[in-house]
Amino acid sequence: MEINLVSDTVTKPSPEMLRYMFQAQVGDDVYKQDPTVIALENMVAQIFGMEAALFFPSGTMANQTAIKLHTQPGEQLIADKYAHVYNYEGGGASFNSGVSCCLLDGHRGMITAEQVAGAVNNPEFYHSPLTSLVCVENTTNKGGGACYDFEEFKRIKEVCVENNLKFHMDGARIWNALVHKQENPNEYGKVFDTISVCLSKGLGAPIGSLLVSDKATIKRALRIRKILGGGMRQVGYLAAAGIYALQNNVNRLVDDHRRAREIGAVLAQLPWVEKVEPVETNILIFSLKKGFDENLLVEKLKQKNIFISSLGPGKLRIVTHLDYKEVMHNYVLEALQKLK
Ligand SMILES: *Cc1c(COP(=O)(O)O)cnc(C)c1O
Repeated sequence: MEINLVSDTVTKPSPEMLRYMFQAQVGDDVYKQDPTVIALENMVAQIFGMEAALFFPSGTMANQTAIKLHTQPGEQLIADKYAHVYNYEGGGASFNSGVSCCLLDGHRGMITAEQVAGAVNNPEFYHSPLTSLVCVENTTNKGGGACYDFEEFKRIKEVCVENNLKFHMDGARIWNALVHKQENPNEYGKVFDTISVCLSKGLGAPIGSLLVSDKATIKRALRIRKILGGGMRQVGYLAAAGIYALQNNVNRLVDDHRRAREIGAVLAQLPWVEKVEPVETNILIFSLKKGFDENLLVEKLKQKNIFISSLGPGKLRIVTHLDYKEVMHNYVLEALQKLK
């Protein structure tokens, strides 16, 4: 039994999901003739109270499309220093859109309206890049699964309106935030110009992301997706996995959150653990006391068939997910306590 807590992307489609995928009605989605893709797009647009959505092969492509939609080459976007769009998309912001990133020193990957207001370049001062976009992440990945207070989004939105900036949310793990904070996704649709969401993280689909916005913006996104090579044919089979995931795997995220919290509570008691970051959702970051090597811990757990990842000197990450079951959880809690 291998217990993989490296990421929530390691899940495999369940037999039920696979059966649902095989039964999908499909067509050529490049001609917009795949009924299952259209159904998924409408479903996700409706969840967020927005007009339209577009299916993407990856969250990276959805985010990169959003950046392209909202910027011109030479301009600048604002994001937290931990942002996925800056750190983990291969430099795509500069490659695809020719924009630079103004990185803010936020708290656990989250930025404030005050910070954003202070980072907007004066548009009259033509020596500096024109600020045109703010990107936030919810939950934060490198920030350890932290969730924004929704009021902060409203305040950042005000700064965006005052300064003529677009507002994008990287919602790869938005489902975790919605479940944890018990928020209404419709509220998000009122604040953001675009939202990207992933189906292949906590929801357990093998692939798939969507970008959500108004009709005119999604029409432009369709062209950008084509340019990026993201036009796909009979992908209703994959969209079906997303529909199945949304119908069956959202509410159960509370189990992932509980298990992450319980691991955190055990770790906090161990003599070799320095600090456990607050656990809000399914990502847990912790650090080791001086003299303890994170690579050695990774190795020792590997010998017990438990896989976790190092985040650099003294820091480690654990991510719970759909395929991490209660029996595995009990085994992990016991293994951690017995570890020497
Ligand atoms: C995983 C992730 C994405 C998208 O990643 P893909 O692997 O391209 O689907 C985007 N943002 C965040 C915060 C993520 O964790």
